[in-house]
Amino acid sequence: MPETETAPGDCEAQVCYNHTLVAMRILVIEDETKVGCFIKRALEEESYAVDMCEDGAKGLEMALATNYDTIIVDLMLPSLSGLDILKAIRRERIQTPILILTAQSQVDQRVKGLDAGADDYLTKPFAIDELLARIRALLRRGATDSPGVLQIDDLMLNPATREVTRGGQRIDLTLKEYALLEYLMRHTGRVLTRPMISEHVWNQDFDTFTNVIDVYVNYLRNKIDRGRTKKLIHTIRGSGYMLKAD
Ligand code: CA
Repeated sequence: MPETETAPGDCEAQVCYNHTLVAMRILVIEDETKVGCFIKRALEEESYAVDMCEDGAKGLEMALATNYDTIIVDLMLPSLSGLDILKAIRRERIQTPILILTAQSQVDQRVKGLDAGADDYLTKPFAIDELLARIRALLRRGATDSPGVLQIDDLMLNPATREVTRGGQRIDLTLKEYALLEYLMRHTGRVLTRPMISEHVWNQDFDTFTNVIDVYVNYLRNKIDRGRTKKLIHTIRGSGYMLKAD
């Protein structure tokens, strides 16, 4: 897919965007700073992009706002337990592979975690090499499992082939338009603020990129909605954008 369009700040955005394309992004929710930093450092050495959070509720917020490739979550956390985070993520039908960290004594919690939709677990203390191997396995699994076709109304997006159609007609998108649309489609019915979009699609701070987001939403609108009775991309005044069928 060629990148032909230009927009204010486009060159900078492009660089960062390409970076997010190649990097696997992992969220680590762990309140023991030492353990969290140790994991973060080890993952970064393996070239993963890592976000870390020490609080349960904030961690859940991050997990819902960004499309991570894997989430590592400790069970005992301030404000919201790892188990509650797990359940909330699965309730949103987000299928991101999740690995839970448990203490030796938490056998029942481990079982509850797996039952609630965790993909794997690791008992503390653990060898970092084992954690890395398990992450690789989860990422492999995620790569083959997750590309189910996304659909809203007659708009379809196939993450495996990156093919987008509406009413059976193929729609050609640039890489950025595609990333934006996939992000919108994975969060259908939810208001996505400009900061959320810029962080996810451009991996950039919001301030300087407001205009870029609006520009790209317009590009997308022209290709997805123009000339059609049913509009799918909605502007939520004062908040951001939402993809929904009515
Ligand atoms: Ca803990």
